[in-house]
Amino acid sequence: MNVNQSVPPVPSFGQPQPVYPGYHQSSYGGQSGSTAPTIPYGAYNGPVPGYQQTPPQGMSRAPPSSGAPPASTAQAPCGQAAYGQFGQGDVQNGPSSTVQMQRLPGSQPFGSPLAPVGNQPAVLQPYGPPPTSAQVTAQLSGMQISGAVAPAPPSSGLGYGPPTSLASASGSFPNSGLYGSYPQGQAPPLSQAQGHPGIQTPQRSAPSQASGFTPPASGGPRLPSMTGPLLPGQSFGGPSVSQPNHVSSPPPQALPPGTQMTGPLGPLPPMHSPQQPGYQPQQNGSFGPARGPQPNYGSPYPAAPTFGSQSGPQPLPPKRLDPDAIPSPASPYVVDHGESGPLRCNRCKAYMCPFMQFIEGGRRFQCCFCSCINDVPPQYFQHLDHTGKRVDAYDRPELSLGSYEFLATVDYCKNNKFPSPPAFIFMIDVSYNAIRTGLVRLLCEELKSLLDFLPREGGAEESAIRVGFVTYNKVLHFYNVKSSLAQPQMMVVSDVADMFVPLLDGFLVNVNESRAVITSLLDQIPEMFADTRETETVFVPVIQAGMEALKAAECAGKLFLFHTSLPIAEAPGKLKNRDDRKLINTDKEKTLFQPQTGAYQTLAKECVAQGCCVDLFLFPNQYVDVATLSVVPQLTGGSVYKYACFQVENDQERFLSDLRRDVQKVVGFDAVMRVRTSTGIRAVDFFGAFYMSNTTDVELAGLDGDKTVTVEFKHDDRLNEESGALLQCALLYTSCAGQRRLRIHNLALNCCTQLADLYRNCETDTLINYMAKFAYRGVLNSPVKAVRDTLITQCAQILACYRKNCASPSSAGQLILPECMKLLPVYLNCVLKSDVLQPGAEITTDDRAYVRQLVTSMDVAETNVFFYPRLLPLTKSPIESTTEPPAVRASEERLSNGDMYLLENGLNLFLWVGASVQQGVVQSLFSVSSFSQITSGLSVLPVLDNPLSKKVRGLIDSLRAQRSRYMKLIVVKQEDKLEMLFKHFLVEDKSLSGGASYVDFLCHMHKEIRQLLS
Ligand SMILES: [Zn+2]
Repeated sequence: MNVNQSVPPVPSFGQPQPVYPGYHQSSYGGQSGSTAPTIPYGAYNGPVPGYQQTPPQGMSRAPPSSGAPPASTAQAPCGQAAYGQFGQGDVQNGPSSTVQMQRLPGSQPFGSPLAPVGNQPAVLQPYGPPPTSAQVTAQLSGMQISGAVAPAPPSSGLGYGPPTSLASASGSFPNSGLYGSYPQGQAPPLSQAQGHPGIQTPQRSAPSQASGFTPPASGGPRLPSMTGPLLPGQSFGGPSVSQPNHVSSPPPQALPPGTQMTGPLGPLPPMHSPQQPGYQPQQNGSFGPARGPQPNYGSPYPAAPTFGSQSGPQPLPPKRLDPDAIPSPASPYVVDHGESGPLRCNRCKAYMCPFMQFIEGGRRFQCCFCSCINDVPPQYFQHLDHTGKRVDAYDRPELSLGSYEFLATVDYCKNNKFPSPPAFIFMIDVSYNAIRTGLVRLLCEELKSLLDFLPREGGAEESAIRVGFVTYNKVLHFYNVKSSLAQPQMMVVSDVADMFVPLLDGFLVNVNESRAVITSLLDQIPEMFADTRETETVFVPVIQAGMEALKAAECAGKLFLFHTSLPIAEAPGKLKNRDDRKLINTDKEKTLFQPQTGAYQTLAKECVAQGCCVDLFLFPNQYVDVATLSVVPQLTGGSVYKYACFQVENDQERFLSDLRRDVQKVVGFDAVMRVRTSTGIRAVDFFGAFYMSNTTDVELAGLDGDKTVTVEFKHDDRLNEESGALLQCALLYTSCAGQRRLRIHNLALNCCTQLADLYRNCETDTLINYMAKFAYRGVLNSPVKAVRDTLITQCAQILACYRKNCASPSSAGQLILPECMKLLPVYLNCVLKSDVLQPGAEITTDDRAYVRQLVTSMDVAETNVFFYPRLLPLTKSPIESTTEPPAVRASEERLSNGDMYLLENGLNLFLWVGASVQQGVVQSLFSVSSFSQITSGLSVLPVLDNPLSKKVRGLIDSLRAQRSRYMKLIVVKQEDKLEMLFKHFLVEDKSLSGGASYVDFLCHMHKEIRQLLS
């Protein structure tokens, strides 16, 4: 590929943009469809004959008999201990807070894990070696891979096709989160009218108030302790590169004749190492090798008067800092340009950044994105040094750092008014199921202490966030918790068809001021509804009510919805059970992923306009239509959590962990993101949890560090090796303290003219992240099989292009893969056989919709471990070793029956125990004398005072701390019925649902490539 192809230049600044012109969505487009898949679904008629492998050994075992999930044993006490671990997040939206949230930068872990092949010529790389996701995506999406290739050839044969309808594990599994089966026949009581004495239904004009609560004894709130920051890498105690079986011999299975693996190819072990060597992104906006060890930067950037707006104590300003030595800060420096606001290019509206070129003695600057010459305002003028650089460049973050924030002026605010602090509204389902499972009591008890940990900024003593409370079943109950009241007051709204908020004053309150009333309310909610017989719920009116309340209070905020059932009560957004497994593998399968009615999208659009983010906690006992219920969270930048068959004794630890993290994490609201680029490339597609009403502005009612937005870039004009390509991402948002800010990220990428250089610098993990999101969006509109075929074709074209243009001539029988893409086939196969694209019999429709929604917001590290789980042997490494054991390949043949293994994928966590594990080990870990006495399905390991027990429990804690959601442990015994569930995650093996083994898939991929080349 030659990127300097002669294409007529197209100015990239064709759309001068006003200053975020308000929030009026003209037309609702949704994200799907606007920039639809450009690659037609090729025809791949199925697999190739002759490669049929014998099934892995495990398959020959008898399927598990059905049985009830084992009761888990005693839960570890929840509460204080768990608070400490919620310190990790990707992005912190405010300035330094009490808990430093840090996680490894997304692009960092994947920096050239595999050394370039030695005999390839070195390349000039003006911007430093490691490409980023953006670069890879840009290059790959832009290059003419398919130019040399005919449309996907038909082939035939083996089994990547439709899943076989093997009736697999029919037993019910313990609720691991994803795979909860539903008990039948929980005969709900007859629905009856609520009968709370003293509660009246208010009329719209004059809501009456009813009280009748006894003042509670206010329990002293627990005081969980916050732990210090989790430093990058701290939780990943393992070796810097854990590459199990890095150079592996060819697989033991017979390869088809003529297939050769070159070098260390062969089915390669995936790597999970967030700490692979590579260059660190530097804060000066470019990339390059880090200069030695990073100093300890406890102190902020020198507090120059121009940007000294950070709160909190400012240590004595040091001398100028070497920007290359500044670690990527979790909290960027905030720049305040006063009333004039951020300095921008007049034409393309890009923000001042280190790449802007000052000229004419500093009186003007040339925009690095659109080349427009702009005047420097007098107050911003500064002289240039002999190199043409402003002499104050290293005093100003916006001239020397890659990421920083601007304080926004009132021009950047809705209705030209500075925002009010945001609010959190807790909306609790109090129908029969929620009461019966103990959910309501657990939640109310937890909220009493959790409200002390609302996110706050800087050194603020208390959070600026106000709170409100609503309970509901098929009517809504609002609560007045004004601090002057002796007791809370309830107002019922039963007119759910035309929702309104019956009270304004006293609904959203400061926690500290209203503590006594709030505690009283939370004490009484479980009692008030203890005898409810109401089983029906509404859903849309609940979100509507929360959104209207925020609108009335003129603020942004977040709704925390705790919901149990399909909303079948008569109301807007009423749903019916439309689950139908017979649709799987038909052209109508896509309907299972589409929302049932348009009411949810309409509501989501209104929520986005108000800056109302929705986090949904689901506790279903049966089908609840996650595909429809998750529409609003998805489009408002919210999260969905799902706890199938919730039981307090089994699931409280997981739920409370997730809830605590979710409530405490730093959030931003009412955000708009715009990506600008230099001439030659442009952002063409976006993936994530957000809403788009046009093709350029990503609107997020809320966002936090657990959400990732993947941007696809296309290069459609001449790129220059000298100047490279520049990207600027600007995010306008309201902080959790109510401050309007702009967060700016700048990125400079190098460009190459040689295809070989491109293949030498791509990131497979990033490609997989993109391809998975692309495919998961595709299932909304296309048959799942067509989506799978497209993925295979894309992958084959990428690899065939390499073979054709970069590899040295060799026998066609050799499978030659680029060094950086050795793992592309194994990972792609994992995506192809994932629950969304090839569901097994035990996967419910809700599970698929749930996973689909989760993957949409995952970062590269998360998709990596989600699609290829980590399998860690426990007794191989020395007992005193404190590092994580190196992972082994996720295949049954890697399991030794004399060992134990932990398997995790970010959502699930298993401890597999081999049947021949030594008795001493069993005793040390489970406190029972033999393998047969270990309780299958156990979810908590006994706390024993011996090295092995401490080590394994410590490792489990460490794995959980690395993930944004709590992973519940499931102990699986070899040959036990639960083993089927475990084997689902051994992704290199053939799966029960028809997914190919890695070896089979590699052979198939080889055949596809050969056909493309012939
Ligand atoms: Zn410009």
